[in-house]
Amino acid sequence: MLERRGRESVTRKWLCTHYRAGKQKPVVVEIDTVKLSYTALKTFQQCNFRYHLRYNRGLPSRPRPAAQSSRALHGALHLFHQGLQQQHVQDTALFPPAANSLDTLLAHFKGYYDNPLRPLTEEQYQEGRALLMRYWEAHRGQFPTPYLLEEKFTLHVGPFVLNGRIDRVDDTPDGFEIIDYKLAQRSIIPPDPLQLDVYQLGFHAQTGEAAKKLSFYYLRTGQTETVEADEPAAAQSRVRTLCRDINREQEFRPQEGAWCTSCDFREFCPAQSRTPRPIPAKNHATQLGFDF
Ligand code: SF4
Repeated sequence: MLERRGRESVTRKWLCTHYRAGKQKPVVVEIDTVKLSYTALKTFQQCNFRYHLRYNRGLPSRPRPAAQSSRALHGALHLFHQGLQQQHVQDTALFPPAANSLDTLLAHFKGYYDNPLRPLTEEQYQEGRALLMRYWEAHRGQFPTPYLLEEKFTLHVGPFVLNGRIDRVDDTPDGFEIIDYKLAQRSIIPPDPLQLDVYQLGFHAQTGEAAKKLSFYYLRTGQTETVEADEPAAAQSRVRTLCRDINREQEFRPQEGAWCTSCDFREFCPAQSRTPRPIPAKNHATQLGFDF
């Protein structure tokens, strides 16, 4: 067991045991909520120890080189579809076809390339242009009018607050379709059921509606993977169970798998070394143990 358990819950406030660096005894503190994200839930599902280091002990992840490209591509697609949305709700005569032109899409992306605060490398810029050109060619003349764009959501699950953002939702003849742009994977993988649950709940929380489908659009290959979405009640039950597991967990054992190759904490991991590095003392730990 890494840390002792916390205390019981109180109305709207939650008590947890907080371990401060350099202090012998933990203190019980009152908190409003514990923040989570889909990434945090996924990390816990894969490896409890990695979750503990990242989210209980607060060890930082290494910056990912692709993050800058991903932000720029998401931003360019957002601006492009926003233009289409505006074209749809306003008099189309005032908006010439330039709103859905390839030049418009690439101009949005160049805006990110030219940003001196977060510049892209020339290689990232050229790769991004090629991906967007393929995206535009694949949809030419058939761009859907988005129902939602870059929609942030917040879900409350017991003491947890689950934050996230949906890239896009289309209102199709078959029902609402959640779209998620993926840059990281070079090969197609089926949409993660957990991500599907979280997005379904986020969409339901924002609109009161239920999505019929979730599609992952792989920017590097130009392919789309679509799955049917489950009912919000079933998604809520699964996410709640996972949050309860996080709340109850005490041992945080490492679980090895394919995800170890991208783990930033291998040097601390007892599954990787007989003599792992000690976890830095400067990082505090918060142990949960709520009733919900
Ligand atoms: S190396 Fe693997 S087992 Fe160890 S903490 Fe990272 S993900 Fe978990």
